[in-house]
Parts: sequence; C-alpha cells; structure tokens
Amino acid sequence: MATPELVFFDGKIVPYKEAKVGVLTHGLNYGTGIFGGIRGYWNDEEKQMFVFRPLDHYKRFLDSGKLLRMELPYTKENLTEATLELIRKQNFRENVYIRPLAFYGDEIIGVRLHNLTPRMSIAAVPFGKYIEQEEGAHVTISSWWRVEDNMTPARGKIVGAYVNSALSKTDAQLSGFDEAIVLSQNGHVSEGSAENIFMVKNGVFITPPVTENILEGIVRRTFIQLIQDELGMQVQERSIDRTELFLADELFFGGTGVQMVSITKIDHRLIADGKMGPLTLKLRDLFFDVVFGRSAKYRNWCMPVYKK
Ligand code: PMP
Repeated sequence: MATPELVFFDGKIVPYKEAKVGVLTHGLNYGTGIFGGIRGYWNDEEKQMFVFRPLDHYKRFLDSGKLLRMELPYTKENLTEATLELIRKQNFRENVYIRPLAFYGDEIIGVRLHNLTPRMSIAAVPFGKYIEQEEGAHVTISSWWRVEDNMTPARGKIVGAYVNSALSKTDAQLSGFDEAIVLSQNGHVSEGSAENIFMVKNGVFITPPVTENILEGIVRRTFIQLIQDELGMQVQERSIDRTELFLADELFFGGTGVQMVSITKIDHRLIADGKMGPLTLKLRDLFFDVVFGRSAKYRNWCMPVYKK
C-alpha cells in the first residue's frame, strides 16, 4: 500500500513525510492512543465521494479519547470537515479508507494518562476488500479471549488494545482461516478480531450486547436499523454461546473494514448448507445501496466530499 501524499497533522494538512514523531513518543511506547476507521465510497454515476456516517465515527473517536482522559481541541464537526478537505485536496476518485489517530505525543518515560499532550493525524488511502472470501469465510474460534472492560475497554478504539486483535487474527490466518471469532472470558461470543458479528436463527437476527466487550460498531448500528426498518424483522441483542454459532441458520460479520462478510464455516463445520444465506444477501444489497448514496432515505448518512 502506497503512503498518501497529504495528511492532517495537529490541525494542518501537510505532506505525509513531514508528519513524523520521535521514538520516545508516549503513544508508541505505551499504546496510549485512540483511532478510527471510516470509509469513503466513490459513486461513479454521480461522480461524487460519500463518506459514511463521519459524525457518528468521530463521536465514538472523541468518546474513546475520554476513556484515556484525552482532551482534543476538536469537535466531531471540525474533524469531519478536515476529513472532507483532506480527500478533496488529493482528489481521490475511488473508494478510500480514512484513519484518524490521536495519541499522547510527549517524548518521556512514565506510564500514565495524566499531564500529557495529545497529537492527532488523519490519513486517507485507496482501499478495497479487507477479507478476501466475502461470500464464504471460514473462521475459527480463537484461543485468545477478548480484552475485558476492567482491563482495557473494548468500547474504546484504543491503540494498545489492538494487540488482542492482532494475536487472534494472526493465529487464525496462519492456521489457514480467514478470520477469528473471539470469546469473552465468560465464554460468550464477543466479536471478530476487528468487526461485529450477527447470527440469524428461526427468522430473528441476534447480535451480542454492548456489555460483551465489543466495539460498538457504526456498521452494527446501521445493520440493526436496516433489519428493523427495511426488512421489517427483529434484532435481539443478547449473549450468544459458542455452539449456537455452529447451529445458526446464517452468520455474518459487519464493520467498516470488512463491510459485510458471510461466514459459511467455523472450525471445519458448515453453517447451515455452507452457502451465503438469503437474509445475509438481502441485507448486503441494502447496505451497499445505502453506503454508495443510492438510497434516498439514508442519504443523510452519506457526506458528499466534492462541491457541485
Ligand atoms: N469491532 C472491532 C474490534 C473493530 O475494530 C471494528 C472496526 N472499527 C468493529 C468492531 C466495527 O466497527 P465499525 O462498524 O464502527 O467499523
């Protein structure tokens, strides 16, 4: 992946190569940073780029900062405007992934969260698929547990906590699986290494509740609304046992990076008939209409980048 030409760094858009930090930087040494992941979708018919739910992403970003006592001199509106400007200046005309990052920038020794100064960057890069097998992923239940709220809160997108995701993802991939499903310490299903999970059973969608050490995904929230309002079906937020997954009618991941990925096999067991299910397919079509700005009803979630 090529690095971008420009980046937002501490309030200004500068050449990427000028946005540098020293090796003693607090966030780099202790993981004391927060980040986000947002997608911009290029709609070729309208020759327009739509950034999906940036205000909701930046609200969660600032909330993640609160968990680390981080006081950033920006609002979600400022950050959204900076993001649009960054894309405009580079004139991207393809799908992009946007990565906001804030970290304690002090170059000092000492683990803590107080008396520190945050720095902030936003980068955007062209981006395609995150998981290759979108229509039929083979996943494993990880032997790594999800981080617990009283250890490192998963509801914040905290830099250091992603070692947990990296451990489960690498072990899964090096064992030949596409992705990992991670359990909470109580044995319940939490989520994928970097995405939320949904199951369909007897005509009802089920997803783990926010108290199961999940990141409260913007796509998860989008799916819940689309399932209820467009498919007219019920969504239950409740704990899921590992073996419920094996007996699910349909199973899929949702997240900004993965978008929507159908899970058709877990640990060498087929889910239902081993093919993407009909409700997964329906929701996927709806989701892509929404994110590309093709659905008038949900157009307010799509922030246009280019002025017409
Ligand atoms: N869980 C984890 C651990 C993640 O990293 C992500 C990606 N941000 C998600 C879930 C999905 O969140 P969202 O839909 O907001 O991208």
